Amino acid sequence: MESKILYGKSLADKIMANVAQEVKELKEEGLHPSLMTVMVGDDPASRVYLTSQKRQAEMVGINCELVELSASTSEQRLLRTLDNVNYDPAINGVILHMPLPSHINSKVAQWRIAPEKDVEGVTPYSLGRLFLGVPNLAPCTALSAVELIKSTGIDLAGKEATVVGRSDIVGKPVSLMLLQKNCTTTICHSFTSKRGSLEEHVRRAEILVVAMGRPQSIKGEWIREGAVVIDVGMNAVGDRLVGDVEFEEARKRAAYITPVPGGTGAVTVAFLLQNLVRATKMQARPEPERVG
Ligand code: NDP
Repeated sequence: MESKILYGKSLADKIMANVAQEVKELKEEGLHPSLMTVMVGDDPASRVYLTSQKRQAEMVGINCELVELSASTSEQRLLRTLDNVNYDPAINGVILHMPLPSHINSKVAQWRIAPEKDVEGVTPYSLGRLFLGVPNLAPCTALSAVELIKSTGIDLAGKEATVVGRSDIVGKPVSLMLLQKNCTTTICHSFTSKRGSLEEHVRRAEILVVAMGRPQSIKGEWIREGAVVIDVGMNAVGDRLVGDVEFEEARKRAAYITPVPGGTGAVTVAFLLQNLVRATKMQARPEPERVG
């Protein structure tokens, strides 16, 4: 069986069309969604990503701003900058660009972001809501992985799902989202591999999400016949970008598989902008706490 390739572009286009419409409606109400990225230090690869993000945001009428701080900026200075952005009514969403220099505690900095402006879903409030099954602003890459799975139309209830990777920003949120969709979810990490059990968990997976950052570590022959495979990994190998899954072998067995590049990455920015629209609405029309 040759699998269907799950390109991210058509899903991303659909989300972006919705975002553009919502931005237009917000502007008619006098609300102008605005995104602020805070970046500490310089990294040419980040700059390419930020330029592309800004271009996509501006295409749907969203204003993007950038605060650049030098690599020697102290943690206190960064926290003050975030406080200023938090209190600025003209800014609706904040991205704190990662990685931060090693003298700054990333968690302390991320947790300083006002929950209502947390468009990347990195604060304890956003992640706590996800944990409780009432997400609000959820991590964008995780949303992208799960929405691509949903786009196959497969009924997820009771399915064996394996997530490889347990980062706070991808692996854990994807696992929680799949659990919420009633999958039987297994989370694998480096100690799963050290014990030699990774292959066994991957072979069982009807839904497989891989976010480990290890080029082509998931062997194509491990993929279960008919599985849905979402490869979140993005690894630069020479001048190519490759995923965590051996794509050519895996596609012979999977029912659906995402390519790298062209899979989850394309959808992530669309969800970021969707979160910004949601954040703008929440700030303009605060509602009583929604718990269900
Ligand atoms: P992290 O490095 O934070 O996490 C990697 C996870 O993989 C960890 O939980 C780690 O386990 C696990 N892992 C590493 N090696 C192994 C192994 N040999 N066997 C099993 N598990 C292993 O990465 P991120 O979650 O931030 O990113 C993962 C990948 O996704 C990267 O390639 C990144 O570039 C990509 N990415 C793509 C995005 C997109 O939009 N498509 C956005 C964000 C990231 P342990 O916890 O035990 O160390």
